[in-house]
Amino acid sequence: MNDFEKQIVKITGGGLHSRQIEILQINLGLRCNQQCIHCHLNASPHRTEMMEWPVMELVLQAANSGCRLIDLTGGAPELNPNFCRFIEALRKKGHPVQVRTNLTVLLEPGMDKIPEFLREHNIRLVASLPCYLEENVSAQRGKGVYEKSITAIRQLNILGYGKDPELPLSLVYNPGGPFLPPPQSVLEEDYRREMDLRFGITFTRLLTITNMPLGRFQAHLSHLGQERNYLALLRKSFNPDTLSGLMCRHQISIGWDGTLYDCDFNLALGIPVDHGAPDHIKSFWVADLKAPSYRHRRILLRMHGRCRFFMRRSFGLIREATKGCGPGYRGWRGRRVCQGPPQEENGSNSEQQPKQYRDEVLLPDITTRVSIEAGVTFGWHKYVGREGEIIGIDHFGASAPGKILLKEFGFTSENILNRVRSLLTRKKS
Ligand code: SF4
Repeated sequence: MNDFEKQIVKITGGGLHSRQIEILQINLGLRCNQQCIHCHLNASPHRTEMMEWPVMELVLQAANSGCRLIDLTGGAPELNPNFCRFIEALRKKGHPVQVRTNLTVLLEPGMDKIPEFLREHNIRLVASLPCYLEENVSAQRGKGVYEKSITAIRQLNILGYGKDPELPLSLVYNPGGPFLPPPQSVLEEDYRREMDLRFGITFTRLLTITNMPLGRFQAHLSHLGQERNYLALLRKSFNPDTLSGLMCRHQISIGWDGTLYDCDFNLALGIPVDHGAPDHIKSFWVADLKAPSYRHRRILLRMHGRCRFFMRRSFGLIREATKGCGPGYRGWRGRRVCQGPPQEENGSNSEQQPKQYRDEVLLPDITTRVSIEAGVTFGWHKYVGREGEIIGIDHFGASAPGKILLKEFGFTSENILNRVRSLLTRKKS
């Protein structure tokens, strides 16, 4: 049982259970025009995962259960080729729809009609703007993002967003580093004043969120040497009053491939719903939203089968081989990938490194470990443990095109997934 679960048991006397499902949050894909350092989903322009129309049709059926809101997210949901078609179908059925936008995508080529389309269909907008200061936005989201975001908000204001009560525009702040957000109401006042003074911009309300140490943000923390401190800060700041409003208690997240998750963070970790509730939109019936298996489903808090990967050398090749091992893979739970070498490239012994560094790389609480190296397996046992999986090459090499060699030596998604599956099964038993 992890610390969070222990707290929950202390407060509720049992686990965390959902209430009535009111919101369907739908991840339309992991592609994004940005690559922010705090992204818990590792979204980027290079991601190809995208919800396809047949899955959308199943979501449309599920939406008929009468939930309060359909919340579209990504990546940048606007980049899904069926974005407009899906919204039209949802609105035709009278479903209220909200889109989470990163703003800058609205200025991408071919997107010029999207703001008007959103207004015509009465879509609510939740837009990321992690600070009212340019330097902070640039540090977190990249150069030029601030200016583009302001341009997009101006366009939305002209259309009535953030002004007309029927066209709400909420802005979202999240911290730029390993710290918590300030109080929402205080920060909202600052945003209003600064946005008005600097640009004459208005918005409906400000939401502040805390970054989860997952995906790219986790890698960023690790890079700063702050992962443990940040986890300690989250532990110390636990607030039992937030339990009733947790997103997992009143919504279901639907991944781009139709997998169902208790929340967006379990989606990032690849932990589908469990405890007897169907975990894919294919086996999900409209009536399920009100059925006890969903209404009172037990929410998964543990990092089931959490697994640490170590990769060294030829990282480009290995990344190619592990392409199919993304969070969207069903059954792939709690993937943590470490690109840093536990053995130093220069041959120095990593045991000579400070303990803090070693702990940040090895994460001692994760004991299910896999190493992948396009080289000898020698030396990996002490890092992955006796039961860990080591994928490497222990015989003489060969000369052939890279793709053929990857296949011959077992550096394929299929082989890696099989080895991980058998490791998880062994651990479980
Ligand atoms: S945080 Fe949002 S805008 Fe940034 S990369 Fe992730 S999905 Fe894209």
